[in-house]
Amino acid sequence: MSRFWSPVVHTLTPYVPGEQPKLQKIVKLNTNENPYGPSPKVIAALHDVAGDALRLYPDPNADQLKDAIAAYHDVKRENVFVGNGSDEVLAHVFCGLLKHDKPLLFPDISYSFYPVYCGLYQIDYRTVKLNNAFEIDLADYEQDAGAIIFPNPNAPTGHLLPLAAIEKLLVRQPDVVIVIDEAYIDFGGESAIKLVDRYPNLLVVQTLSKSRSLAGLRIGFAIGQPQLIEGLERVKNSFNSYPLDRFAIAGAAASFGDDEYFRAMCTKVIASRERLVTAMAQLGFEVIPSAANFIFAHHPEHDAGQLAAALREHGVIVRHFKAARIDQHLRISIGTDAECDALLAALHAVLR
Ligand SMILES: *Cc1c(COP(=O)(O)O)cnc(C)c1O
Repeated sequence: MSRFWSPVVHTLTPYVPGEQPKLQKIVKLNTNENPYGPSPKVIAALHDVAGDALRLYPDPNADQLKDAIAAYHDVKRENVFVGNGSDEVLAHVFCGLLKHDKPLLFPDISYSFYPVYCGLYQIDYRTVKLNNAFEIDLADYEQDAGAIIFPNPNAPTGHLLPLAAIEKLLVRQPDVVIVIDEAYIDFGGESAIKLVDRYPNLLVVQTLSKSRSLAGLRIGFAIGQPQLIEGLERVKNSFNSYPLDRFAIAGAAASFGDDEYFRAMCTKVIASRERLVTAMAQLGFEVIPSAANFIFAHHPEHDAGQLAAALREHGVIVRHFKAARIDQHLRISIGTDAECDALLAALHAVLR
């Protein structure tokens, strides 16, 4: 606390990211990173950037990357916004698109950064409860609202909504901006990007941190109609002209150029997920069906906080949220098959 702080700073409750342990040799299943490295083509592109050109500022519009994303998703450059991780994209979305007289709606159990942005930008919000199956029911969002945001698949549950349900909400709420945070869509979902040209109130946000193995490079993007993108560009250019450096622009563009590698890695993660879900069920866990690169699991006979602590002693880190309704669940990222086996071995030892 300091009297030199701006008043709003006293009110902030910052987001707490999952731990990044300094220790090697730990099985890290707590922040939904990809267990596989990025495409060799990405690494080659990064090597090409390392040189004299680094004395120059990067392209403030990151057109090379916007064009790669536009080509990949079959939209135009004017439909694409890019930022320093989707967290930054989301920050600009909250600031530029989600603050209205009526409250913003999002699920009570969801990405815990959303209320943090609301605090930072002083946005009035109302949470909407997941149903008893821990699913988002979009009928609950057909109410008076200033804007709506939710992840699909939802985090931390992994539950996926079908595109038809999303389209129905877009039709029922034509005057409300609806933002879909598709951080995990590549692990088994269908993206709403294909609806963008029909719905001016739709914005889809994605990240290269999970399915494209580039959490360390910090790239996220949004796709929507040009009016929405223009609003985001205004906010971005009032904050930082160069959020993406030369490495991020070139590396991210190269990732979209290696679809074969991308699909192969997603397929591996999905296969490991299905294998892990089966094995966890055999250990007595109840696992919510997941379309993400993590699972959300609960054991009826064991306290989740104690399980997380015990796993840690066995060298396995998972995420436990000390929040209402979910404090008896563990969120476990999908690792390699060897990492999943290490988790299962640790669980066998702990549950015995
Ligand atoms: C990981 C995650 C993000 C942030 O991703 P970055 O691009 O790494 O900032 C955004 N939304 C959800 C739901 C996430 O899980």
